[in-house]
Amino acid sequence: VQELNYIEPGRLEWREVDDAKVGGPGEAVVRPLAVATCDLDALMVRGLVPMEAPFGFGHECVAEVTDVGDEVRTVKPGDLVSVPFQISCGECPKCLAGHTGNCEAVPRLSTYGMPFGQQRFGGFLADAAHVPFADAMLVPVPEGIEPDAVASLSDNIPDAWRTVGPPLEENPGAPVLVVMGAGSIALYAVALARALGAARVDTVGGRPHDRELAAKLGANVLDDEIPEKVRPGYQVTVDASGQQEGKGLVCALRSTGPEGICTSIGIYYSPDISLPLMEIYSKGITFKTGRVHSRPVMPKVLDLIRAGSFDPAPMTMQTVAWDDAEAALSELRVKTVVAR
Ligand SMILES: [Zn+2]
Ligand SMILES: [Zn+2]
Repeated sequence: VQELNYIEPGRLEWREVDDAKVGGPGEAVVRPLAVATCDLDALMVRGLVPMEAPFGFGHECVAEVTDVGDEVRTVKPGDLVSVPFQISCGECPKCLAGHTGNCEAVPRLSTYGMPFGQQRFGGFLADAAHVPFADAMLVPVPEGIEPDAVASLSDNIPDAWRTVGPPLEENPGAPVLVVMGAGSIALYAVALARALGAARVDTVGGRPHDRELAAKLGANVLDDEIPEKVRPGYQVTVDASGQQEGKGLVCALRSTGPEGICTSIGIYYSPDISLPLMEIYSKGITFKTGRVHSRPVMPKVLDLIRAGSFDPAPMTMQTVAWDDAEAALSELRVKTVVAR
């Protein structure tokens, strides 16, 4: 079977790999049908993320189940499913607490499509993918929902949901500030904040097409330059700036009002970002960072889609045919869905 591999900056290549097989009673094999690129993929393709090559590419997909072990109960061959990017067993204390990104049954950082962690599970741009805990991981995609539209349900959409879902539960109806720039996650956050009842969603930063789309999604688009802070302060702020120097992160933190919650989806490599800890302390701000635990969030997002309050389709900037994936993703710049 074929798998699209990252080779070096600007170069992906189809390679022949071993076929995925059901090796145990709780396992499944799926055939990815629609693969979305994660905001991180665009950086990985350009070699901007420290990592070892080669590796199988793609970690967001809707797939068709092709084979299941004897003990799998929730899915059967032919079912359409969304596959979380993180491997999780569903039974360990971390999984039971909803922290599936830190599942204790697999080495830490076990994911599809990224060369992190000790095990490599391959990428979704492949003819087959192995799912070690089928009942715990796979989420059936309800009829009437297009696979292309929810290809990003594996990672980026839940990543956006966690920035606004729990904070708006604590602060119902509060206005939200989204610091944009990272790509699709900022835009999903805008749309989800609206769906979850935020009185207003303000944005700063972002590329021109981010700002245009944010406005279409109902955001109140403020400065394109990221300011030091946006006054008078918000109960809910989101750093989806993707700026390594930390300006967007600091803006989000400093724009958070007393007892507010600031969530950052950013992955910062620099040890030199200085945070306004005195301001955070004196205002009693809660700062949340870390990887999303995507699996428990996925059904919540599907509920919003089914209710008609959230539509992820506009965030896909281009759709390419499976056979064109090698060329298109080698120069990946925008949110892309590869569809069979
Ligand atoms: Zn990702
Ligand atoms: Zn687990």
